[in-house]
Amino acid sequence: MKRETSEKERFPLGLYLHVPFCSKTCDFCAFYQVRPTRNVIERYLDGIEAELSLIGQCDSLDTIFWGGGTPGLLLAKDMERLGKTVKKFVGEPVEWSVEMAPGSIKEDKLRILKDVGVTRISMGVQSFKDVFLDGLGRQHSLKQIYKAYDLLRKIGFSSVNLDLIFSIPGQTAEDWEGDLKEAVRLAPDHLSTYCLTFEEDTALYLKLSKGRVSIDEEKEVAFYRKSWEVLPAAGYAQYEISNYAREGHQCVHNINTWRMYEWIGIGPSASEQYKGWRSSNIADEERWYEGLMQGKRAQVERIFLEDRHLCEDALIFGLRMNAGVKLKELEKRFPGVPLSSLSPFFQNLLDEGKMIRGNNGNFCLSAEGRLVADALGLELLNCFGSK
Ligand code: SF4
Repeated sequence: MKRETSEKERFPLGLYLHVPFCSKTCDFCAFYQVRPTRNVIERYLDGIEAELSLIGQCDSLDTIFWGGGTPGLLLAKDMERLGKTVKKFVGEPVEWSVEMAPGSIKEDKLRILKDVGVTRISMGVQSFKDVFLDGLGRQHSLKQIYKAYDLLRKIGFSSVNLDLIFSIPGQTAEDWEGDLKEAVRLAPDHLSTYCLTFEEDTALYLKLSKGRVSIDEEKEVAFYRKSWEVLPAAGYAQYEISNYAREGHQCVHNINTWRMYEWIGIGPSASEQYKGWRSSNIADEERWYEGLMQGKRAQVERIFLEDRHLCEDALIFGLRMNAGVKLKELEKRFPGVPLSSLSPFFQNLLDEGKMIRGNNGNFCLSAEGRLVADALGLELLNCFGSK
C-alpha cells in the first residue's frame, strides 16, 4: 500500500553525507573506501555540491550526519567548503554530527566545524590498549586519543561520543572492563560499544578462515553483560543495544533512522530512504561524479518501500532500542499492515521473559531478549510471511 503523508504528520528528515576517504583499510572493515589524493578530494567536493543542487533546498531538515570513511581526513579548508556547501541547502538542524578518527583531529579543523554549526563529534577510539588497536589494524595511538579528546572538550562541542569495540581477539573480560572504565573516566556524553564482526573480504575474516582467530559467543555475551553493568551504573543510560548516553545526549539522527523515518544520503555509496524509496549511491567515486556531471544521481538498488517493509524494519530496529515499539503508533502509521499477526509471537516472548511491557504500554526486549535480538528479528519476519 502506498503511504500518504499529510502536512500535519511531518516525520523527521535527516541528511547523511558520506566521506569515503581512508588512508589505510582497518582489518575489520568492509566499507567502500577511496585513498584521498588532492584531485579526488576536489572532485568529491564538486560532486557533493552538484548532488545537493539536484536534490534542492531542504529547509525542514532535522539532523545532519557526516560519516565515513574518515571525514576527519579532509583538510580544514575542505571541511570549510563542505560545511558551507551543506549550509546553503539546509535550514538549522537540531543536531549535526561528524565522525572523526583520533589521528585526524586537529584544532583548526575543529574550530571550522564548530563555526559552521556542527554540534556533535563521534570519535572512533575502539580500544584504550595499543595491543588491541594493532589487532584491529587501526592507525592511531593512545597518545592521539587523549590529545584529540582534550581538543574536543577545549573547542566545546555540545556532545561528544566515543566508539569502542569489544570481543577483539585476545581481549579478556578484564580488558573490556578496563576500556569501559577508562571511557567513563574521560566522561564523554555518549558511548557506542560494538561487538567485533568478521565481514567477508577483510583481513580479520582471512585470519578467521585460516583459524588464526576464533569467535567465542560465550565471551561475547559476557562482554555485553559487562557493558550493561558498568555503563548504566556510571550514568550512561542504554537506549539501544550498542548505544548509551547521558541525559539529553542520545543521537537524534540515529534514532530517527531506526524508527524508519526518512533521510537523504549523498556521497559515493551513501544509502537513503527518501520520498518512499530506499536506494544507495553507486560505490564508485568516479562513476558517482560522472553521473552528477550529467545531471543525474548514480543510484543503485532502488526499491519502492511498501508500508509492510517499513513497518517490519521499524519493528526490528525499534525492538533493538530500550524504548521498544508502540503498536498503536505503528498501526496508525501503517494502517494496512496486519500487526495483529504478531500477537502470538509477542506473547511467547513475554512468557519466555525475552520481552517486557514498558510503563507506556510499549513492547520492549528484556536483557535476555536483547542478547538474541538478531534471531528474533528473523522470527518477526516469519510472522509476516517475509522470510
Ligand atoms: S573502519 Fe573506518 S577508518 Fe577504518 S577502514 Fe573502515 S571506514 Fe576507514
